Amino acid sequence: MIVFCEECGERIIIEPEEIKESVIIMVCTACSDVIRITVPDTAGQGPRVQKA
Ligand SMILES: [Zn+2]
Repeated sequence: MIVFCEECGERIIIEPEEIKESVIIMVCTACSDVIRITVPDTAGQGPRVQKA
């Protein structure tokens, strides 16, 4: 997942392993701005596999 810093436009790559919650707080590596990312809720339609 790639997001762009709203302050400086820096491209920030988020590894799937880091996406554990619906909201991710990142710090831009270029300008140190705090970026809040809302991940679309994929519950029920994602690749998540659960044993019945
Ligand atoms: Zn930035």
